[in-house]
Amino acid sequence: MSSHPAVLFLVSADTGCVQVDPEDPHVFVTDLGVTRGDGIFETISVCNGRPQALEPHLARFARSARLLDLPEPDLALYRRAVLAAIEAHDDVPELFVKTVMTRGIEGTGVATGWAYATEAGDFAAARTAGIRVVTLDRGLRHDVAQTSPWLLQGAKTLSYAVNRAALREASRRDADDVIFTSSDGFVLEGPTANVILRLGDRLVTPRTDQGILAGTTQASVFEFAESIGLQTEYAVLPVAALAEADALWLVSSVRQAAPVNSLDGISRQVDGELTRRMTEFLLGRTE
Ligand code: PLP
Repeated sequence: MSSHPAVLFLVSADTGCVQVDPEDPHVFVTDLGVTRGDGIFETISVCNGRPQALEPHLARFARSARLLDLPEPDLALYRRAVLAAIEAHDDVPELFVKTVMTRGIEGTGVATGWAYATEAGDFAAARTAGIRVVTLDRGLRHDVAQTSPWLLQGAKTLSYAVNRAALREASRRDADDVIFTSSDGFVLEGPTANVILRLGDRLVTPRTDQGILAGTTQASVFEFAESIGLQTEYAVLPVAALAEADALWLVSSVRQAAPVNSLDGISRQVDGELTRRMTEFLLGRTE
């Protein structure tokens, strides 16, 4: 895969949404997105040319902007940029579009925005054989969003260095991914995914008021589950619930539903049939 995205649109209040050459430089070195990680993003899966959960992604983009006291993103412009980027990209089965908005060049108060499309990697193995996961303590209590909103837990900010470090720690522990737990012993989320547990005929995910991101993929999985008669629930889950679950998944845009085949070095049963149906539903979403 090229290190440049295939298609790039700049998004600004002045010029609207304009396609530019992704090989040209576009972001200033004093942009606060670069120097402080001060900005927000969304990653939207595109399957057979159709963006998945576009409106929930745009709504979350606006919510993240509010949490960071950023100017309100012009969602009509970003929506147009996403659709134009898909249109301009080669016709491939799976790609993703990333929208970014930063606080802009220091001192200007003018946000910088862009959206790019790029082909998705091949996640077939993760979606079927599954992934090895370790639990890591995030070092924050589960009520951090209420007690310390300035930590921006639950916003999709550009400050993902910690999330990347957690993935490197997983790799050092011979695992592929992470489930963060709170310092007071509750299940949170992955660095780029939500956790879903199957407990009998219930799918359960951690409640989103615990400083975690409200996932668009998790919401779609719940929609699928309800359509086949499974119950769904948002709950405050003690870490012990992970060991008790009949099956576990990390779900996110792009990789979609990845069943967990080992947790902290202990093998886990993969629910192959449910995972297959989940994946089929996720990849077939039309909105
Ligand atoms: N949690 C975090 C921290 C994330 O970064 C992401 C997505 O990247 C998710 C959860 C899953 O969200 P979605 O399913 O909307 O991609």
